[in-house]
Amino acid sequence: MSKIAIVGAGQAGLQLGVGLLKHGYEVVITSNQTGEQIRNGRVTSSQCMFDRALQNERDIGLDFWDGEVPVEGIQFALLGPGGGNVMKWSSRLNAPAQAIDQRLKMPRWMDAFVAAGGELRIADVGIPELEALHKESDLVIVASGKGEIGKLFQRDDTRSRFDKPQRSLALTYVHGMRPRQEHTAVNFNFMPGIGEYFVFPALTLSGACEIMVFEGAIGGPMDDWASVGSPQEHLAESLRILREFVPGEYERSKDCVLTDDLGVLAGRFPPTVRRPVLTLPCGGLALGMGDSVCLNDPITGQGSNNASHAAAAYLAAILDHGDRPFDAAFMQGAFERYWDYARFVVEWTNGTLLPPTDNLQKLLGAAQHDPRVAHWFVNGFNDPRTFFPIIADPHAADAFLEQAA
Ligand SMILES: Cc1cc2nc3c(=O)[nH]c(=O)nc-3n(C[C@H](O)[C@H](O)[C@H](O)COP(=O)(O)OP(=O)(O)OC[C@H]3O[C@@H](n4cnc5c(N)ncnc54)[C@H](O)[C@@H]3O)c2cc1C
Repeated sequence: MSKIAIVGAGQAGLQLGVGLLKHGYEVVITSNQTGEQIRNGRVTSSQCMFDRALQNERDIGLDFWDGEVPVEGIQFALLGPGGGNVMKWSSRLNAPAQAIDQRLKMPRWMDAFVAAGGELRIADVGIPELEALHKESDLVIVASGKGEIGKLFQRDDTRSRFDKPQRSLALTYVHGMRPRQEHTAVNFNFMPGIGEYFVFPALTLSGACEIMVFEGAIGGPMDDWASVGSPQEHLAESLRILREFVPGEYERSKDCVLTDDLGVLAGRFPPTVRRPVLTLPCGGLALGMGDSVCLNDPITGQGSNNASHAAAAYLAAILDHGDRPFDAAFMQGAFERYWDYARFVVEWTNGTLLPPTDNLQKLLGAAQHDPRVAHWFVNGFNDPRTFFPIIADPHAADAFLEQAA
């Protein structure tokens, strides 16, 4: 049986590693952090995952928190300049989503990987280490997320729409938020020209919490995280933004406390798709997976979902490939198998970063009056392929709305 080396113990790397072990492959994962370091470190994501991605985890026995802290629906609100609702509606997901703090999830998955017979090494992988992994294994996969090593993969200009960050991002993990009155949900709030704010229940190291996600327009009034020093100042800035721009959310958030001093994050990055095959100086090849080669802005909450679908697509490609050598054609083919799904997510996510088209406004407006349209839109987060061609093509949208009516 082939030996597969994976760089990075995140959503994509560990899910693929455990999946391969179940099929009898020899797997070595190299991580630049121990489980303890991840657990004691800073939050990395809001990692809300929808049912199809959660199913990938169930399929290989990694669903250690099944049923906990369910996210049962999605609410959309479009806010006017004074913070009042121009539009607001919600609908239920057919099956709940879930967000498990990666500080909780990845160490537990690392243990599961080792318990299933995987070899976990701790090292910061650079080119020499990639070459060593190439020598000792049949296939090297780089799943290093936003880690520097991923930048060795060449940017794919035809598949990357932006070359600069489109939003100033921040996360604030809190306890003490007043729950929504109906079912639990991701509450999306759009403030045109200012940014977006979304919030939802999650599970963190200290139990159930809420994660606040801020997507500020670059240079706008939600882009002042650089002046924030302490974690308490980060919380204060979070509440200032809500008070000024999302007063409805402020009301249920004003008594919140941080889950912990490392439950805060701020940063920005350009969404980027890269070519999936890397040629090493020694002539060997490495295949990119997850965020290292398909990095999206978090505005649609799809990155961990994508990483999960990438791992599932690569697992299927490896199994189908059998004993044949893992050459460049295999690697490109494995990525294209994933891209057949991911291209829809990338198009939708990039479009959401731009001012909404008339077509999208028409659909979101229709959802306010027609629960079937709202239900379709909300459940599209579970499989963004179902948005197309409707959100991109006004004729398809008209036909869809007529049919719904
Ligand atoms: C603010 C924010 C909010 C988000 N919210 C959501 C959301 O709600 N829903 C969602 O689905 N996604 C969300 N995401 C995205 C999601 O977190 C990522 O897409 C997902 O974690 C990517 O998984 P991955 O396995 O590709 O990479 P990662 O999870 O980043 O894992 C990569 C691992 O590789 C390790 N590594 C890096 N370099 C090296 C090296 N040289 N050697 C060894 N190891 C290395 C890293 O330490 C890390 O453990 C969010 C992201 C951000 C920034």
